[in-house]
Amino acid sequence: MTRTNPAKNDSPVALGHPLPFGGDKELYYKIFSNYEEDIKTGCWNWRGRTNEKGYGMIDIGDNPPQRVHRIAFRLHNGYINDNLMICHKCDNPRCINPEHLFEGDAWDNTCDMINKGRAAWQK
Ligand SMILES: [Zn+2]
Repeated sequence: MTRTNPAKNDSPVALGHPLPFGGDKELYYKIFSNYEEDIKTGCWNWRGRTNEKGYGMIDIGDNPPQRVHRIAFRLHNGYINDNLMICHKCDNPRCINPEHLFEGDAWDNTCDMINKGRAAWQK
C-alpha cells in the first residue's frame, strides 16, 4: 500500500488550517531555536518541557499547551489537518525535525503501529 499525502498537490490552506496562531515568524524562531540536534539520528530534540508521554509542549498565547512537533510540522509545511495525527518516523516524541514527521490516521493508531513495525502494509 502506498500512502500519499493528499495535501501535497493542493494549496496548503485549502485542506488544513489557515495558520491559526499569527505571529508565525516569532513562533518559528521560538521553536526552531530551542532544540538540540542528535548527530547520530538527526533528531531535533526539544529542549523545553515535555508531557508525561515525552512530547515537547509549548504555550502559545491563551491556547492550551500545544505539542511542539505538531506546530513544527505546521510551520514547516504551512498547514496542519486537525483530523490527522502527526507521527514520528524516528519514534522519538521529543523530536521536532520536520523531516522526521508525517501525517497518520487518528483513528487507528497508525503512529504506534508504524513505530513498532506492526502495520500490515509494512510486512
Ligand atoms: Zn527524529
